[in-house]
Amino acid sequence: DGTDPALAREDQDNAVLSALVRLAALITSSRGATDLIETVAETTRELLNAASVSISRLEDDRTILRTLINVGSLGPGEQRRPAHETYQVADFPESLAFLVGQPVQRVVTDVNDPRAEAAEVALLRSLGKSSSLKTKIILDGRVWGELWASRESAAPSFNNHDSDVAKVIVALVSAGLAQAAAWQAMEERVSTDLLTGLHNRHFLEDSFERELIQAERSGHHVSVIMGDLDHFKRVNDRYGHLAGDQVLRVFSNVLKNFARASDILCRYGGEEFLLVLPGVTEEGAVERAEQFRHATEATPVSSGDRLITVTASFGVATYPKHGRTTVELIGAADAALYSAKAEGRNRVHLCGDPHQSW
Ligand code: GH3
Ligand code: MG
Ligand code: MG
Repeated sequence: DGTDPALAREDQDNAVLSALVRLAALITSSRGATDLIETVAETTRELLNAASVSISRLEDDRTILRTLINVGSLGPGEQRRPAHETYQVADFPESLAFLVGQPVQRVVTDVNDPRAEAAEVALLRSLGKSSSLKTKIILDGRVWGELWASRESAAPSFNNHDSDVAKVIVALVSAGLAQAAAWQAMEERVSTDLLTGLHNRHFLEDSFERELIQAERSGHHVSVIMGDLDHFKRVNDRYGHLAGDQVLRVFSNVLKNFARASDILCRYGGEEFLLVLPGVTEEGAVERAEQFRHATEATPVSSGDRLITVTASFGVATYPKHGRTTVELIGAADAALYSAKAEGRNRVHLCGDPHQSW
């Protein structure tokens, strides 16, 4: 059509380059592996002019390849996010050998190539495709999985240039996966209490805030229970800090066991624990706190050859009656807890109870 082939080639290279730059920006700003994989699959399909792209992860000691996503024109039975699409690596000894450390045999398969791997050809035919390109994805120096691209019979088979582009893509994916994993670990670390494995107060304050915003819209109650071990300092003094730590773990398990799925539970401070109960009235919350109190008393903690019995006191406050903000409500529950302590410990007080001494 009269255009200079060198210029056409340059245009094509520029398009690939700018798509790669876009992909790099997306990948490096991504914080979750799931979104990342979806973006990568879609962009790769464009970049490689592929009919479909799949990303799969190696599992079960590298014997199984599990497909996480399929995009593009899918074959019969293929799903975008398959629940159970797996392949035995051993069934593709030539085209998947590179996943398990064997020398690369076949990166590209063409159904018309008489030397092509029979299993891969059969797979391509069953999906209505004519060629495939496989590239391994590395994470932390180990093979993590595979990027698979396919073309239909109207398109030419994949070539070395496609394979090079795919290699650049998977290098970006590796960086993105490593970053997503680091981000997730960091998020978990900053919202978790190490001793008990419960959420910490920073996590709770954020989710409590969100619950109150919802409650304001829908008009439902939100209760908060503050629990504190009685005479915990004596436990440390008498049995040592390791025994004290064990008491904290057991107490947190008691709370966990009696908490419902909708409750938000955290270790608020040293031996103080906070529960937010969405949709629970003050009567309901007092009843729940009584359960916690009773279970604590009934659960001795074994430390070495001793059994340590502990009790706890609880303060209860409810939105909107006792406060409208997280600070007001936590303060109200804390005041009720203080009054339970003042009255002799091992009891539950509701904010504003007549027996509150403040
Ligand atoms: P009260 O019945 O009034 O609550 O008395 P208490 O002794 O339980 O309360 P106090 O606030 O005087 O002491 C709390 C103790 O909890 C002091 C602190 O050393 C201990 N503590 C806080 N965090 C930890 C922890 O992670 N492990 C252990 N073993 N002890 C802790
Ligand atoms: Mg205490
Ligand atoms: Mg305390």
